[in-house]
Amino acid sequence: MANYQQAVKMTNKSLILETIRTREPVSRAGLAQLLHLTKATVSSLVEELIAEKYCYQTGPGKSSGGRRPLMLQFNEKAGFAVSCDIGVNYIFTTLTDLRGTVIHELYRSFDTNDFTRTVMEIKVMIDDCLKHMPDSPFGLVGIGFGVPGLVTRNGTIVNTPNLDWHQSNLKDIFTDQYETPIIVENEANAGAYGEKIHGSAGTDESFIYISAGIGIGAGIVLDGKLIRGASGFSGEIGHTAIVEDGLKCRCGNSGCWEMYASEMALLSSSGSTLLPGDLEKLIEKAASDKTAEQAFERIGHYLGVGVTNIIHTFNPERIIIGNRLVKARAYLEPKVQEVVNERTLPALRENTEIIFNERYQYASIRGLAAFSVEHFLEKQFSSHASISV
Ligand SMILES: [Zn+2]
Repeated sequence: MANYQQAVKMTNKSLILETIRTREPVSRAGLAQLLHLTKATVSSLVEELIAEKYCYQTGPGKSSGGRRPLMLQFNEKAGFAVSCDIGVNYIFTTLTDLRGTVIHELYRSFDTNDFTRTVMEIKVMIDDCLKHMPDSPFGLVGIGFGVPGLVTRNGTIVNTPNLDWHQSNLKDIFTDQYETPIIVENEANAGAYGEKIHGSAGTDESFIYISAGIGIGAGIVLDGKLIRGASGFSGEIGHTAIVEDGLKCRCGNSGCWEMYASEMALLSSSGSTLLPGDLEKLIEKAASDKTAEQAFERIGHYLGVGVTNIIHTFNPERIIIGNRLVKARAYLEPKVQEVVNERTLPALRENTEIIFNERYQYASIRGLAAFSVEHFLEKQFSSHASISV
């Protein structure tokens, strides 16, 4: 077959699979209508996709008159992805199927400042996930890492202000180890993508995901697209100045938002040594201790000030607050809402919903899994589809 025809065929096949994946269950006739392809083209490409295990046929669906059509579904168990969300004080690793459903998960409170120890710990977690991976046609399709720092569009970690990592070539290290595509992403970008694909964003086209942990990062989705910026570094909103000449931040600036509104800010102001588990202890203490309660209120206040700035900048439909500070929702949320109500222009405020995502720990890993799966599917179809003239 001529290269051109081959390329057209692969593009159509990829489109059909993408439509099955996002609209399932769908019939052959439905695909033909949605994609403006002939029924014969759809049928022949669907037969190939079924034979290659990308999708399968299920029982008859609803009829719009006449015979009930057989429906097609994406084969979510055709392969698996491992995703690893690396926080400043934890590592969360999961095995998911191609739809992002978690098959196995491991969470560890861990000080990730030491790069070598972190890599060793991650390897143990990945190997444990792989032990739980069922047999499948494609096996492991990729490993994704979410990191709290600046990551270029091609997965190079440039800077991790809250970690003492002097080398950080995660991509090279794990490519050598596992011989599978490795994706490295900023954890807040991954979180925003996870919320868009599977999570709390609903049908919102424009929302901001705020990852409020030891530091603060944001993932920005505007008009349905994740906005990465020129180099991939957008959303470093924790380092916007909120108090001029304020507290010195590890990034080198003063008065950064994360010095006032993060888990680190909370624990530092309460005299904690930032040990894993300290946030949980402080939440417990706040139930009977006025000073601890006020510490949360102060963080809620500054969180609200930053959220107000974000609403004025992006006019989002929704602000989703995620990561570990969500654990303190009961103390933070009323204060955040109060400050935002007081300070936001009414026309912007009335169209913006602010939510705390209780299932926050899955946001980044779902985003990473989706990146791995999309990368895999793109590769499967593009390798045959190049047009050489
Ligand atoms: Zn800073």
